[in-house]
Amino acid sequence: MPRYDLHCHSTYSDGLLAPAAVVSRAAACGVDVLALTDHDEVAGLPEAQEAAKSAGITLVCGAELSVTWENITIHVVALGIDPRNATLTEGLEATRSGRSSRARRIADSLAAAGIPGAYAGAMKYVTSERLVSRTHFARYLVEAGHARAMKDVFKRYLTRGRPGYVAHSWATLPQAIDWIHAAGGQAVVAHPGRYDVSPTGMRRLLAEFRDLGGDAVEVLSSSHTPAQYAEFATHARVFGLRASCGSDWHGPDESWMELGALPELPAGVAPVWKDW
Ligand code: AMP
Ligand code: MN
Ligand code: MN
Ligand code: MN
Repeated sequence: MPRYDLHCHSTYSDGLLAPAAVVSRAAACGVDVLALTDHDEVAGLPEAQEAAKSAGITLVCGAELSVTWENITIHVVALGIDPRNATLTEGLEATRSGRSSRARRIADSLAAAGIPGAYAGAMKYVTSERLVSRTHFARYLVEAGHARAMKDVFKRYLTRGRPGYVAHSWATLPQAIDWIHAAGGQAVVAHPGRYDVSPTGMRRLLAEFRDLGGDAVEVLSSSHTPAQYAEFATHARVFGLRASCGSDWHGPDESWMELGALPELPAGVAPVWKDW
């Protein structure tokens, strides 16, 4: 059984390693099939593809799209996309375009809470001029002593109701799914266990996603507990969605689990890679 890890990040978004280094590490960890899924970005894929050839593993072209659904932010992973598809690249560019002004507003909000210099501080951690994220602010907040570690930052800052949170409109769910399909890929609801929705809200999300043509749900994620593996496997079966699996790895000291460290998919689900 090949080992799949279909969700991780590089320096083209908020990961700590360049695409080639992520790929070598994945290979060393025993991953056979890796998807690089940078936030709203496909520019790291050529480097990852080259590295995968040398490492002898399979690289799946991916991305993680930021989506606003019913006033909350959700993430949709794209798998098996053509990164040169113009519908997709234009959609991603539009989605990324608000990030710089959002970063200014995040810094203003932190300044108002008594944390000056966060914009310049976050910029020290940005590794692609095309993509500034809350992760870069989080790294600065740890450096400046406002939180002990990355795991603690988001509890006090950068989330709804906290300093450094700003509302933002991302792509819509139909847009994200359509762009992914235009590029020949599959659309996957990322880490559903992380969303602040009621059980009814989760069923509404999955039903709407499926009705829009969405393909799969991330059943196994480092964000999920084993109980949630079972819960989302059931959801996948009930809603007729396939099941995916991804560590959401960001870097050596920042991640909840190593690349490729997830168990096998629960029985009874159709893997997202069934027809690959
Ligand atoms: P953004 O796309 O700028 O809103 O940043 C979202 C990123 O912040 C996610 O992809 C994670 O890498 C990180 N993040 C968000 N919430 C948390 C959390 N509670 N713990 C750790 N990282 C988080
Ligand atoms: Mn991230
Ligand atoms: Mn995500
Ligand atoms: Mn991710």
